[in-house]
Amino acid sequence: MCGGKTFYLETFGCQMNVHDSEKVIGTLLHEGYRQVETVEQADLILYNTCSIRDKAEQKVFHRLADYKKLQAEGKKFGVLGCVAQQEGEKIFDRAPHVSLVCGSASYRNLPQMLEQLETAGDTASHPSRKERGLSGAPTLTDPHDSRPRTQDSPLVRITGLDDRATDKCFETEYAARTNPHRGYITIIEGCDKFCAYCVVPFTRGKERSRTSDSVLAEARQMADLGYTEIQLLGQNVNSYKDPQGKCSFAELLAAVGEVPGIKRLRFTTSHPRDFGRDIVEAIDAVPTLCDHVHLPVQSGSNKILDAMQRLYTREAYLERIAWMKSAGRHIAITTDVIVGFPAETEDDFMQTLNLLDEVGYDGIFSFKYSPRPNTPALKLDDAIPDEEKSRRLEVLMQRQKEIQIANYKKYIGTVQEVMVEGKNDARNQWIGRTTQNKTLNFTVPDAQVPQVGTYVKVRTIQSFPNSLLGELVV
Ligand code: SAM
Ligand code: SF4
Repeated sequence: MCGGKTFYLETFGCQMNVHDSEKVIGTLLHEGYRQVETVEQADLILYNTCSIRDKAEQKVFHRLADYKKLQAEGKKFGVLGCVAQQEGEKIFDRAPHVSLVCGSASYRNLPQMLEQLETAGDTASHPSRKERGLSGAPTLTDPHDSRPRTQDSPLVRITGLDDRATDKCFETEYAARTNPHRGYITIIEGCDKFCAYCVVPFTRGKERSRTSDSVLAEARQMADLGYTEIQLLGQNVNSYKDPQGKCSFAELLAAVGEVPGIKRLRFTTSHPRDFGRDIVEAIDAVPTLCDHVHLPVQSGSNKILDAMQRLYTREAYLERIAWMKSAGRHIAITTDVIVGFPAETEDDFMQTLNLLDEVGYDGIFSFKYSPRPNTPALKLDDAIPDEEKSRRLEVLMQRQKEIQIANYKKYIGTVQEVMVEGKNDARNQWIGRTTQNKTLNFTVPDAQVPQVGTYVKVRTIQSFPNSLLGELVV
């Protein structure tokens, strides 16, 4: 078995976190660490956390409590991501066995933080970064932490918590993408929208975009490595502003979509306020752009949209939907909805239900409002009881299910191109994904074995609320 320091990393939350973890893993591997599958095998246990709702935040503290006993074996714990940024040094009080707390804006400083962790802990059996010929001085020990710190103290405490004013993106050439066929590229980080309920502007800092040159260089590099599907990522991906001023978001979509070798380009999440008609025109003009837009609405009531500080009205949102519906291609539309925001009446909720009917979404992510630290909505009275929030959520999901059953039925008899994603052995079905981001499982004749990552044509024969079933067109 190989030696060296080992790490285990578990990721919670959104695609941004998933991709951040790929970059963190790449950085750790470059620093000489080896990734392992279980906490028991690891020297360093990392959690990349999410704090969008209270439940997500609590998960990480449960994990830390579950494995606390492993500290006695010399293992070190680190909390990364949104909970790290939000709770900061308070994490050391709540989980004293944690050594590293690092928000996403500070990941670029991870090599120095790792160096500090190594030199403050047991260095006898492991060569230091300097001894391994790697550069970078430790500079980030928390200056406010007056607790004793010695060479072998388990109390080493490191925080990397840039404030939200940083204008740097976390770019690295070391992203360890797990899927060899489709991968993410972050084009914009942070958020300046400050919706009344949301922690993201506080945990991920101010909005900052990468240059279009660097995005295109990464897309070309991925195409050279054999990737055929790229997904551009941002909390509000379409708020992208090229620091070089060379292209708009829609022009960037077209440019990445035209990189030789790229067959599919997706982007998420779009904010309605920055959603221009030029995005729909780009989808119509560039065949590699996928026929799917995720456009979170949150509520169908203007009163609630205003209280949420969403910066658009129901009418403006529906205008954007109309642009998509009048496109040459059939664009699948999905959304996010929050129920039970403070002061949401039954009538407001009905307006949201009615919006689902009007748009006819192909999918929704729906959430009960969860009060979050630092957010303006915290000052509002969260007076809707949890049972009522649950009831509204249930009604909403049932209505959406009916809409999806009708939408998915329309695909029966059509032939769709899918990217082969894998096989469900238990059902003896292959798993495919359409350009509209629908799962289309399919059967194949005995002699055929489709390759994962390739594109095949499938005839749809049956529909379900969340997926389709078909057979390979030979
Ligand atoms: N930037 C995207 C937008 O503005 O639509 C959304 C990104 S946010 C990370 C993902 C989703 O989490 C939101 O669309 C919202 O529905 C949900 N969400 C955020 N804060 C929430 C809260 N406090 N309670 C419940 N759901 C929340
Ligand atoms: Fe959160 Fe609003 Fe920013 Fe989306 S736009 S990340 S919901 S603050």
